[in-house]
Amino acid sequence: MSTLQPIHALNLDSIQQQAFIKYYLTLPDKPPTTVRIFDRNDYYSVHGVDATTAAKEVFNSISNIKKMGIEPNRLDYLVLSKGNFEILIKKLLLVRRYRVEIYVAEGSVKSCDWVLKYKGSPGCLTQLEEVLGDGLGSSEENTPCLMAVNIKIDPVSKGRLLGVACISPGEYEMSVTEFTDDDLLTELETITVQMAPSECLVPQSDHDDYKALKKIMDRANVTITKLKKSEFSVEGLTQDLNRLLKFKESQQQDANVFPETRKRTAMASLAATIKYTGLLTDSTNFARFRIRTIQADCFLHLDTAALAALNVFPEPGDSSNAPSRSLYGLLDRCRTQHGKRLLAQWLRQPLRDINLINERLDIVELLMNSSQLRLQLYDDHLRRIPDLQALARRLTRKKANLHDCYKIYQAINRLPSLLQCLSETNNATVHSSLSEPISELNEDLNKYQQMIEATIDMDAVERGDFLVKPSFDEELQILSKQLDKLQSSAEKELNKTAKDLDLAVGKTIKLESTPQNGFCFRVTLKEEQSLRGNKKYTIIDAVKGGVKFKSNALGSINEEYIQAKSTYEKEQDKVVSEIVAIAGSYSECLFCLSHILSRLDVLVAFSVAATTAPYPYCRPTITESIDELELREVRHPCLEVQEGVSFIPNDVVFKRGSGIMHIVTGANMGGKSTWMRACGASALLAAAGCAVPARVARLPRLRCIAARAGATDREDRGHSTFMLEMLECAAILRTATPDSLVLIDELGRGTSTYEGCGIAWAIAEELATKCQCFCLFATHYHELTRLPNLHPGVIVNSHAEAFVVDQQLLLMHKISSGPATHSLGLHVAKLAGLPESVIKYAETKQTQLDTNLYEIETALNSQDTTEGQHLITNFLLSCKQIQNSTSSDEEMLKEINKLKQDMLQQDNKYVQALMA
Ligand code: ATP
Repeated sequence: MSTLQPIHALNLDSIQQQAFIKYYLTLPDKPPTTVRIFDRNDYYSVHGVDATTAAKEVFNSISNIKKMGIEPNRLDYLVLSKGNFEILIKKLLLVRRYRVEIYVAEGSVKSCDWVLKYKGSPGCLTQLEEVLGDGLGSSEENTPCLMAVNIKIDPVSKGRLLGVACISPGEYEMSVTEFTDDDLLTELETITVQMAPSECLVPQSDHDDYKALKKIMDRANVTITKLKKSEFSVEGLTQDLNRLLKFKESQQQDANVFPETRKRTAMASLAATIKYTGLLTDSTNFARFRIRTIQADCFLHLDTAALAALNVFPEPGDSSNAPSRSLYGLLDRCRTQHGKRLLAQWLRQPLRDINLINERLDIVELLMNSSQLRLQLYDDHLRRIPDLQALARRLTRKKANLHDCYKIYQAINRLPSLLQCLSETNNATVHSSLSEPISELNEDLNKYQQMIEATIDMDAVERGDFLVKPSFDEELQILSKQLDKLQSSAEKELNKTAKDLDLAVGKTIKLESTPQNGFCFRVTLKEEQSLRGNKKYTIIDAVKGGVKFKSNALGSINEEYIQAKSTYEKEQDKVVSEIVAIAGSYSECLFCLSHILSRLDVLVAFSVAATTAPYPYCRPTITESIDELELREVRHPCLEVQEGVSFIPNDVVFKRGSGIMHIVTGANMGGKSTWMRACGASALLAAAGCAVPARVARLPRLRCIAARAGATDREDRGHSTFMLEMLECAAILRTATPDSLVLIDELGRGTSTYEGCGIAWAIAEELATKCQCFCLFATHYHELTRLPNLHPGVIVNSHAEAFVVDQQLLLMHKISSGPATHSLGLHVAKLAGLPESVIKYAETKQTQLDTNLYEIETALNSQDTTEGQHLITNFLLSCKQIQNSTSSDEEMLKEINKLKQDMLQQDNKYVQALMA
C-alpha cells in the first residue's frame, strides 16, 4: 500500500499547524521507545523523533519526513496511509518491541482535541486488536506473554528473592514463581528463555539487581517498562483474582485456595500485570484464567547465548523463516497457526522427562516410518484446520460471527476421518495421547455441530453468504414471508410499468434492488425518451449504464421493504448473538482441541522435516545415566540443507573416565564451530522429541545446554566483546553441572593474547574438573592442547583436519582426535602471500619462543609432569622469599643457583627435559 502525498494529506493551514505544535509540546515526556501516532480519520501522522523512527521502519528512508510550523517552532512530521500505519504498528510492537500510543480527535481533527485512545505494548496488544482486527499477534509464532518481576531481600536467607509473574491473555493463563537468584540473575534468564515474554514490567529502581535484569532482557529482546512501585501492591488482588480465575464447581470460589497465592513477592508482580493489561475492564475475561507455578526444572535450561549459538530462532526481523537459518525455520512444517506457536514453545522448553520425550519420539518414529499416514495428515487433514485457538478466543470475547462459527463447524466435521486415519496405526501412544482425547472432544462438540446445522442456512453458505435459516426463528419466518410478498408486489409493478411504457420485461426494462435505495426500475439510455415528461415516474439517477426510476406505487412498496429488511436484520443479529453465545460455551472444548491438534501438527512437522532431509535422521536414545554422550556421524541440520553444501558428518563422543571435555583446535573455517553446534542442536532436538541428524544418538538426560558463541557481531549491542564473554562464562561456571552440555567457542578473543589465553585455560580447567560437565571447547590458543596431559581421562584433544597440498590449504571439515598441527598458521601466512622475509623472521621467532612443552608432556607420564610442575612452583616461591632475606644481587644469584641445583638433584624427568 502506498503513502498518501504528505503535503496534501496533512491539510492544516499555518495557524492550525502552530496550534498543533503547541499542543504537541504539552504532551508528557516519553522515551524514544514509545511512539505516538495521531489518527486523522483517513490517514495518520507521526511527529518529532517518532517521525524518524516510523519513516525508517516503514520506508527504510527518512526522505518522506516534512516539517510543519514556522521557525523557531518547527516540528517534523510523517504522514501514513492506513496500510502503512498497520505495517508500522506491527513492526514497532512485534519486531522492535516498542510501545505505541494512538491519539484520536474528540471533536474536529483541526481543533487539537486529542485524547489518548489506544495504547499497546509488546506484552499487551488487547486494545490494538480493536484497531487492527485479528491480524495482530494471532498469526505470529508467539502469543504475547507479559512478564513482571520485582526483587526483594529474602528475610530468611538474606539473598535476593525474585517474584515473577507472566500473563498470556490469549491463552487465559497466569503463571508465577518465586526463587532466590545469584547476582547475574541466572535463573531469571532461564525462565525468560522458557516463557519468551515480549515485555517485562519492573518497579522503578536504581538498584544494581535491576541493572542485571535489564541486561538479561536486552539480550532476550524483551522491552522493559518501569512502573511506579505502588503498581506492585497486592491490595485488592484477591478480589481481582476471584473474578478472573476459573474455579471448579466443587471448589470454594476463593483465590486463596490456590497455593500460588501464598507467594507474596510473585503476587505483587501478578498484581502489576493485571492492572497493566486492564484484564478487569473486559468482562469476557472473568472466570476464565488458570493460575499455575512455573516449573523451570521440568525443562532443559537454555540461556539466551545458547538460543543464539544454536540458531534456534531466526534473527529478530528475519521473516524469511528459511530452513537453513534456524532450527525453527527447519522444523516449521506446521500446517496450523497454533502448531507453529507450539513448535516455538517446544524449542524453548525442551523436555527432561525421559518418558515424555519418548512419548513424542514414539509418534515421530511411527510417522517417519509410515509415509502414507504422514502424508495423509500433512497434506489432507491438518492443512484444513483453521486457527482454532484464535477462533475460540473470538467466541469467548463475543467477537465471533457466523462465518467463524461455520469455520469451526467445518474443522470439527473433519475429525471423524482424522480419527479413522489415526486408529489405523494401532499404536498405543497414538491412541492414548491423540485419538482418545480427540474422540472425546468430538463427542462433546456433537451438539455444537447440530446447533450449526439447525441454524445456518447451508444453501446460502454455498453462495458465500453466512445467514441464519429463516425456519430457525418464528419472527424471522414471518419477516421473510413479508419480504417475499413485497418482492412479488414489486415484480407485479414492473409488469404494469412495462406495459404502460411498452417495454419488454427483463430486456428493455429491469427491476433492480440495492441496499441503499431498495427497488427501482432501470431502462437503457436508448429507452430514456419514453420516460420524458411522464409525470407518473420519478427519475432517480441517470448514468452511462441506464436510467433508474420509480413509480409512486414502487416507492411505497420500497418503504415497506426497507423497513421489513431492517427489522429482519435486527432480528437476525439477535439470533446470531444467541448462536454465538451458545457457541461460546464450547470455547473451552475448542481450546483443548486446538491444543491436541497442535501437538499432532508439530509431531507431523518433525517427521516431515526428518524425512525430507538430505540424509537420514535417527531416533535418539535418552539415558538416565550421565556417563556418556555419543553422536555418530552427526550433521548440522540447517547447514546440510543449504544449497551446494556437501556436509561431512563427524562423531562426538564423551565418556566419563576417558574424556568429558574436547579441546578443539584447527585452522580458521576448519569446521570447529559447526561441529559443536551440530552437537548442541542434536541434543536440543532430542529433548524436544524430534529425531536427530545423526546415524546413532545416545544422549544423557541433560539439565542444561549453555553456550558461548563466536565473538563476531557482538559489538553492536553496547557491551565490549570481552565483557560479554566474561558475563556469559561466569554464568556458565556457576550453573554447569555434570548433566550439562557446554559449548565454548573462541574464548578470550576480545582481549590481549596472554590474558585471553590465561582466562581460557582457567575456565576450561574449572569446567572439566569442578563442574564436570560435557564440554566442547574450541580455541585458537594452542597452549590449551597441553590440558589433556594435566588432566588425563578428563580432557582430550580434537582438531579440525587441514592440510597444505600444492600450496593450497585443504580444509577437510573432519574432526579427529589429537591437537591440530602447530605450524599450520605459518603455512596459512605463506598462502596469504606475506613477504618471504616476514615469514622467515616469524619462523625463527617461533622456534625461539617454543618451549616445546607440549612435546615434553606427551613424552612423559603424567606423574612425572605433575611432580615436575610442583617442583617448579616450589622453586619459584622460594626465589620470591630470597628477595627479602638477601642483601646484594650477588648473594641473591648464589642462593638461586643453590635452589636450582637442589631442584635438579630431585632427578625429575620433566624438570630435566625443561632445563635441557
Ligand atoms: P573459525 O575458527 O574461523 O571460527 P571454524 O573452524 O569454527 O572457523 P566453521 O565456522 O565451523 O569453522 O566452518 C566454516 C565453514 O565451513 C562453514 O560455514 C561451512 O560452510 C563449512 N563447514 C564446516 N563444517 C563442515 C562440515 N562438517 N561439512 C561441510 N562443510 C562444513
